[in-house]
Amino acid sequence: MAYNEAARQHFASELTATREAGLFKDERYIHSAQGAEIEVEFPAGSPPKKVINMCANNYLGLSSHPEVIGAAHEGLEERGYGMSSVRFICGTQDIHRELEESITAFLETEDTVLFPSCMDANAGVFEAILGDEDVIIADRLVHASIIDGIRLCSAHQDSFKHSDMKHLERKLELHQDKRFRLIVTDGVFSMDGDLAKLDEIVDLAERYDAMIMLDDSHATGFIGKTGKGVHEHFGVLGRMDIITTTLGKAMGGASGGCVSGRKELVELCRQRARPYLFSNAMPPVIVAAAQRVVDLISQTTERRDKLEWNAGYWRQGLSDIGFDLRPGESPIVPVMLYNAKLSQDVSRDLFDEGIYAVGFFFPVVPKGQARIRTQLSAAHDKEHLDFALEAFRKVGEKHQILGLKKKDIIARFGA
Ligand SMILES: *Cc1c(COP(=O)(O)O)cnc(C)c1O
Repeated sequence: MAYNEAARQHFASELTATREAGLFKDERYIHSAQGAEIEVEFPAGSPPKKVINMCANNYLGLSSHPEVIGAAHEGLEERGYGMSSVRFICGTQDIHRELEESITAFLETEDTVLFPSCMDANAGVFEAILGDEDVIIADRLVHASIIDGIRLCSAHQDSFKHSDMKHLERKLELHQDKRFRLIVTDGVFSMDGDLAKLDEIVDLAERYDAMIMLDDSHATGFIGKTGKGVHEHFGVLGRMDIITTTLGKAMGGASGGCVSGRKELVELCRQRARPYLFSNAMPPVIVAAAQRVVDLISQTTERRDKLEWNAGYWRQGLSDIGFDLRPGESPIVPVMLYNAKLSQDVSRDLFDEGIYAVGFFFPVVPKGQARIRTQLSAAHDKEHLDFALEAFRKVGEKHQILGLKKKDIIARFGA
């Protein structure tokens, strides 16, 4: 069928409906490198304005770190720009393998295979290792890419209520007849910033003979004493069978992901995972920069320590001012506003005060749980945070929401 008038009208009306439902996502153009301070064009067409970025995944402040940029230049100069091949044909340089080995050492796993992204790692891993005699039991709030990956696999699919260990246990009991059971969870859940109960999951996995897959995208590099992730935080290093994670957040923030874990499972991904076999190899510029990131975070915990301090200071500061926060211990600090329009108004007012923090509402978070998700970075200095706290205070006063709890805010603004 041609792209005729009826087709055009159909697709245009889908977009109109999205807009009318208030779900249209407008992108804002940034005119600078990623960092604690960025220059943002907002609204579109206005001259870029310098603001403090409070919503990047640049947890360790490495996205524009001079050493990382330097390593990227070296990678580009020495190994060229593009691989022009998938890994198994002629797309594997020695530096790809070295990076895999460094990540293995850092995460304390057995082996690692790189993917173009963590989305691709999650899309490929399940189908590569499990079949219809097996079951995947996933936390109900796992990342979208895990949900997609599970759909591509013929294993039975089940889920447990978010972080509900009793429910997980019931599901494990239920599936004792399957060949293999795989429990799947995010390490840090990105919308609330809460951590999976990995110590309890390890116990259950042992008791009910299950394997564990951890997606540590929002943790690798900074959660745990030396930043290895949520498995380090809970003292269960070496107990994860599969870890997937991204290089697109704390680890330099460009792109790339991996599957790390038991060596047989990693090798099966190399042999069978479709995004690995059929998508181009990671370019040397990113491999070289990512290698420097792994080296930097293996040498010192300075950045993750600063991030931890920043997160504590920020959380305490917002709480003292009177904002309603989701409790937690990660550098994701959600400021709860419940009402979608309020979250947009507060975000806009914060921008006027020099703070960039986007408001999230349905369907990114459940209805009636709109929020401003703030994220800390080791790139933030105390001065940035003090400035931002003052801006939040001012905007909170303007909307008269300071000191209000959930039911008060919903009573005033609606859910
Ligand atoms: C960001 C994220 C991903 C996707 O990572 P990319 O490398 O950007 O594809 C996967 N899983 C989780 C939990 C994430 O937070």
